[in-house]
Amino acid sequence: SNQSYRWRRVLLKVSGEALAGDQAQNIDPKVTMSIAREVASVTRLGVEVAIVVGGGNIFRGSTWAGCSGLDRSSADYIGMLATVMNAIFLQATMESLGIPTRVQTAFRMSEVAEPYIRRRAVRHLEKGRVVIFAAGTGNPFFTTDTAAALRCAEINAEVVLKATNVDGVFDDDPRRNPNACLLDNLSYNDVMSRDLSVMDMTAITLCQENNIPVVVFNLNKPGNISKAIKGERVGTLIGG
Ligand code: UDP
Repeated sequence: SNQSYRWRRVLLKVSGEALAGDQAQNIDPKVTMSIAREVASVTRLGVEVAIVVGGGNIFRGSTWAGCSGLDRSSADYIGMLATVMNAIFLQATMESLGIPTRVQTAFRMSEVAEPYIRRRAVRHLEKGRVVIFAAGTGNPFFTTDTAAALRCAEINAEVVLKATNVDGVFDDDPRRNPNACLLDNLSYNDVMSRDLSVMDMTAITLCQENNIPVVVFNLNKPGNISKAIKGERVGTLIGG
Protein backbone atom coordinates (compact mmCIF):
# COMPACT_ATOMS: atom_id res chain seq x y z
CA SER A 1 0.00 0.00 0.00
CA ASN A 2 1.22 3.50 -0.72
CA GLN A 3 -1.15 5.09 1.80
CA SER A 4 1.63 6.87 3.65
CA TYR A 5 2.93 8.48 0.47
CA ARG A 6 2.00 11.98 -0.35
CA TRP A 7 2.47 11.52 -4.08
CA ARG A 8 0.82 8.80 -6.08
CA ARG A 9 2.16 9.81 -9.49
CA VAL A 10 5.15 12.10 -10.00
CA LEU A 11 6.98 13.71 -12.87
CA LEU A 12 10.71 13.64 -12.23
CA LYS A 13 12.72 16.12 -14.31
CA VAL A 14 16.38 15.19 -14.65
CA SER A 15 18.48 17.85 -16.32
CA GLY A 16 21.28 16.91 -18.66
CA GLU A 17 23.74 18.79 -16.50
CA ALA A 18 22.86 16.64 -13.51
CA LEU A 19 23.51 13.49 -15.57
CA ALA A 20 27.02 14.69 -16.35
CA GLY A 21 28.09 14.39 -12.70
CA ASP A 22 31.83 14.89 -12.37
CA GLN A 23 32.69 13.01 -15.55
CA ALA A 24 34.66 14.44 -18.43
CA GLN A 25 32.31 12.44 -20.68
CA ASN A 26 28.76 13.58 -21.22
CA ILE A 27 27.15 11.06 -18.92
CA ASP A 28 28.32 9.81 -15.54
CA PRO A 29 27.19 6.17 -15.13
CA LYS A 30 27.39 6.58 -11.35
CA VAL A 31 24.67 9.22 -11.59
CA THR A 32 22.40 7.22 -13.88
CA MET A 33 22.84 4.18 -11.61
CA SER A 34 21.96 6.12 -8.47
CA ILE A 35 18.87 7.59 -10.17
CA ALA A 36 17.83 4.10 -11.27
CA ARG A 37 18.31 2.66 -7.77
CA GLU A 38 16.29 5.36 -6.07
CA VAL A 39 13.51 5.24 -8.65
CA ALA A 40 13.46 1.44 -8.28
CA SER A 41 13.00 1.71 -4.53
CA VAL A 42 9.94 3.92 -4.82
CA THR A 43 8.27 2.16 -7.75
CA ARG A 44 8.42 -1.02 -5.66
CA LEU A 45 6.36 0.84 -3.06
CA GLY A 46 3.73 1.69 -5.64
CA VAL A 47 4.52 5.28 -6.57
CA GLU A 48 4.14 5.88 -10.31
CA VAL A 49 7.14 7.62 -11.82
CA ALA A 50 7.40 9.40 -15.16
CA ILE A 51 10.67 11.07 -16.10
CA VAL A 52 11.51 13.93 -18.45
CA VAL A 53 15.20 14.06 -19.32
CA GLY A 54 17.10 17.13 -20.47
CA GLY A 55 19.96 17.22 -22.93
CA GLY A 56 22.15 20.10 -21.81
CA ASN A 57 25.06 17.76 -21.05
CA ILE A 58 25.30 17.02 -24.77
CA PHE A 59 23.81 19.91 -26.70
CA ARG A 60 21.85 23.03 -25.84
CA GLY A 61 20.22 24.72 -28.81
CA SER A 62 20.48 28.26 -27.51
CA THR A 63 24.27 27.95 -27.11
CA TRP A 64 24.79 26.88 -30.69
CA ALA A 65 22.12 28.86 -32.55
CA GLY A 66 23.66 31.46 -34.82
CA CYS A 67 27.00 29.68 -34.94
CA SER A 68 28.18 29.05 -38.54
CA GLY A 69 24.74 29.60 -39.99
CA LEU A 70 22.99 27.16 -37.67
CA ASP A 71 19.46 28.46 -37.23
CA ARG A 72 17.69 28.17 -33.87
CA SER A 73 15.20 25.53 -34.97
CA SER A 74 17.88 23.22 -36.35
CA ALA A 75 19.97 23.71 -33.21
CA ASP A 76 16.94 22.89 -31.07
CA TYR A 77 16.24 19.69 -33.01
CA ILE A 78 19.81 18.60 -32.29
CA GLY A 79 19.16 19.44 -28.61
CA MET A 80 16.01 17.32 -28.62
CA LEU A 81 17.93 14.41 -30.16
CA ALA A 82 20.45 14.77 -27.32
CA THR A 83 17.66 14.13 -24.80
CA VAL A 84 16.88 10.87 -26.60
CA MET A 85 20.46 9.68 -26.03
CA ASN A 86 20.13 10.39 -22.32
CA ALA A 87 16.74 8.67 -22.22
CA ILE A 88 18.06 5.48 -23.78
CA PHE A 89 21.03 5.44 -21.40
CA LEU A 90 18.73 5.87 -18.43
CA GLN A 91 16.32 3.22 -19.71
CA ALA A 92 19.08 0.66 -20.16
CA THR A 93 20.36 1.40 -16.66
CA MET A 94 16.90 1.03 -15.12
CA GLU A 95 16.22 -2.20 -16.96
CA SER A 96 19.55 -3.59 -15.76
CA LEU A 97 18.03 -3.29 -12.29
CA GLY A 98 14.85 -5.02 -13.41
CA ILE A 99 12.62 -1.94 -13.59
CA PRO A 100 10.35 -2.17 -16.64
CA THR A 101 10.84 1.11 -18.49
CA ARG A 102 9.47 2.64 -21.69
CA VAL A 103 10.85 5.58 -23.60
CA GLN A 104 8.36 7.73 -25.50
CA THR A 105 9.62 10.37 -27.90
CA ALA A 106 7.82 13.58 -28.79
CA PHE A 107 8.59 12.97 -32.47
CA ARG A 108 8.71 9.60 -34.12
CA MET A 109 11.80 7.42 -33.92
CA SER A 110 9.85 4.18 -33.97
CA GLU A 111 12.84 1.86 -34.29
CA VAL A 112 14.29 3.28 -31.11
CA ALA A 113 11.36 4.13 -28.86
CA GLU A 114 7.59 4.43 -28.74
CA PRO A 115 6.01 7.62 -29.98
CA TYR A 116 4.39 9.72 -27.26
CA ILE A 117 0.81 8.55 -26.80
CA ARG A 118 -0.74 10.00 -23.67
CA ARG A 119 -3.15 7.17 -22.91
CA ARG A 120 -0.48 4.59 -23.48
CA ALA A 121 1.92 6.41 -21.17
CA VAL A 122 -0.74 6.43 -18.44
CA ARG A 123 -1.38 2.71 -18.97
CA HIS A 124 2.35 1.97 -18.59
CA LEU A 125 2.40 3.91 -15.33
CA GLU A 126 -0.65 2.06 -14.03
CA LYS A 127 1.15 -1.20 -14.76
CA GLY A 128 4.11 -0.05 -12.68
CA ARG A 129 6.40 0.79 -15.58
CA VAL A 130 8.57 3.87 -15.53
CA VAL A 131 7.97 6.08 -18.56
CA ILE A 132 10.77 8.30 -19.82
CA PHE A 133 9.63 11.15 -22.03
CA ALA A 134 12.30 12.15 -24.53
CA ALA A 135 12.71 14.83 -27.21
CA GLY A 136 11.18 17.50 -24.98
CA THR A 137 7.91 18.87 -26.31
CA GLY A 138 8.96 18.05 -29.88
CA ASN A 139 9.04 21.76 -30.69
CA PRO A 140 11.98 24.11 -31.08
CA PHE A 141 12.06 27.22 -28.84
CA PHE A 142 10.90 25.20 -25.84
CA THR A 143 12.83 23.55 -23.02
CA THR A 144 12.65 20.24 -21.25
CA ASP A 145 11.40 22.10 -18.15
CA THR A 146 8.39 23.10 -20.21
CA ALA A 147 8.11 19.49 -21.42
CA ALA A 148 8.11 18.42 -17.76
CA ALA A 149 5.29 20.81 -16.87
CA LEU A 150 3.33 19.83 -19.98
CA ARG A 151 3.65 16.07 -19.52
CA CYS A 152 2.89 16.43 -15.82
CA ALA A 153 -0.39 18.17 -16.65
CA GLU A 154 -1.24 15.72 -19.42
CA ILE A 155 -0.79 12.54 -17.39
CA ASN A 156 -2.28 14.06 -14.21
CA ALA A 157 0.89 13.69 -12.20
CA GLU A 158 0.70 15.58 -8.92
CA VAL A 159 4.07 17.32 -8.84
CA VAL A 160 7.14 18.20 -10.88
CA LEU A 161 10.26 17.12 -9.02
CA LYS A 162 13.14 19.03 -10.52
CA ALA A 163 16.43 17.26 -9.80
CA THR A 164 19.40 19.60 -10.11
CA ASN A 165 22.98 20.06 -8.94
CA VAL A 166 22.02 22.57 -6.27
CA ASP A 167 20.13 22.17 -2.97
CA GLY A 168 17.13 24.17 -4.14
CA VAL A 169 16.31 27.80 -4.83
CA PHE A 170 18.47 30.43 -3.13
CA ASP A 171 17.81 34.13 -2.59
CA ASP A 172 21.04 34.84 -4.47
CA ASP A 173 23.56 32.88 -6.56
CA PRO A 174 25.25 30.55 -4.02
CA ARG A 175 28.33 30.23 -6.23
CA ARG A 176 28.95 33.98 -6.05
CA ASN A 177 27.46 34.84 -2.68
CA PRO A 178 28.46 32.55 0.23
CA ASN A 179 25.70 34.11 2.38
CA ALA A 180 22.93 33.14 -0.05
CA CYS A 181 20.03 31.45 1.76
CA LEU A 182 18.14 28.39 0.68
CA LEU A 183 14.42 29.16 0.42
CA ASP A 184 12.02 26.50 1.75
CA ASN A 185 8.87 27.81 0.09
CA LEU A 186 8.15 30.12 -2.82
CA SER A 187 5.09 31.20 -4.73
CA TYR A 188 5.00 31.07 -8.54
CA ASN A 189 4.87 34.87 -8.52
CA ASP A 190 8.04 35.03 -6.38
CA VAL A 191 9.84 32.90 -8.94
CA MET A 192 8.73 35.13 -11.80
CA SER A 193 9.08 38.55 -10.22
CA ARG A 194 12.38 37.90 -8.43
CA ASP A 195 13.96 36.36 -11.53
CA LEU A 196 15.26 33.41 -9.50
CA SER A 197 16.09 31.40 -12.65
CA VAL A 198 14.48 28.23 -11.40
CA MET A 199 12.69 27.41 -14.62
CA ASP A 200 11.96 29.41 -17.74
CA MET A 201 8.79 31.53 -17.76
CA THR A 202 6.90 29.19 -20.10
CA ALA A 203 7.46 26.26 -17.75
CA ILE A 204 6.63 28.11 -14.53
CA THR A 205 3.54 29.69 -16.06
CA LEU A 206 2.27 26.31 -17.19
CA CYS A 207 2.77 24.98 -13.65
CA GLN A 208 0.97 27.95 -12.13
CA GLU A 209 -1.98 27.76 -14.53
CA ASN A 210 -2.44 24.09 -13.73
CA ASN A 211 -1.68 24.30 -10.00
CA ILE A 212 1.27 21.96 -10.30
CA PRO A 213 3.68 22.28 -7.37
CA VAL A 214 7.40 22.11 -8.19
CA VAL A 215 10.05 20.75 -5.84
CA VAL A 216 13.62 21.79 -6.70
CA PHE A 217 16.22 19.59 -5.02
CA ASN A 218 19.78 18.25 -5.22
CA LEU A 219 20.12 14.95 -7.00
CA ASN A 220 23.69 14.42 -5.80
CA LYS A 221 22.73 13.89 -2.16
CA PRO A 222 22.10 10.16 -1.64
CA GLY A 223 18.49 9.43 -0.78
CA ASN A 224 17.19 12.77 -2.05
CA ILE A 225 15.38 11.41 -5.11
CA SER A 226 13.49 8.84 -3.08
CA LYS A 227 12.75 11.43 -0.38
CA ALA A 228 11.35 13.83 -2.97
CA ILE A 229 9.30 11.09 -4.60
CA LYS A 230 7.93 10.00 -1.22
CA GLY A 231 6.88 13.56 -0.53
CA GLU A 232 9.37 14.11 2.29
CA ARG A 233 10.63 17.64 2.88
CA VAL A 234 13.59 18.33 0.58
CA GLY A 235 14.87 21.37 -1.31
CA THR A 236 12.48 24.19 -2.23
CA LEU A 237 8.72 23.82 -2.71
CA ILE A 238 7.14 26.17 -5.24
CA GLY A 239 3.37 26.56 -5.32
CA GLY A 240 0.45 28.73 -4.33
N1 UDP B 1 14.67 21.44 -26.77
C1 UDP B 1 13.72 21.94 -27.66
N2 UDP B 1 12.39 21.78 -27.36
C2 UDP B 1 11.95 21.16 -26.24
C3 UDP B 1 12.92 20.67 -25.33
C4 UDP B 1 14.26 20.82 -25.61
O1 UDP B 1 14.06 22.50 -28.68
O2 UDP B 1 10.73 21.03 -26.05
C5 UDP B 1 16.10 21.51 -27.12
C6 UDP B 1 16.74 22.84 -26.79
O3 UDP B 1 17.70 23.13 -27.79
C7 UDP B 1 17.44 22.56 -25.49
C8 UDP B 1 17.90 21.13 -25.68
O4 UDP B 1 16.83 20.53 -26.40
O5 UDP B 1 18.54 23.41 -25.28
C9 UDP B 1 18.17 20.37 -24.41
O6 UDP B 1 17.13 20.55 -23.47
P1 UDP B 1 17.30 21.45 -22.14
O7 UDP B 1 18.23 22.57 -22.41
O8 UDP B 1 15.96 21.76 -21.63
O9 UDP B 1 18.01 20.39 -21.19
P2 UDP B 1 18.51 20.56 -19.67
O10 UDP B 1 18.77 22.00 -19.40
O11 UDP B 1 17.43 20.02 -18.81
O12 UDP B 1 19.72 19.69 -19.61
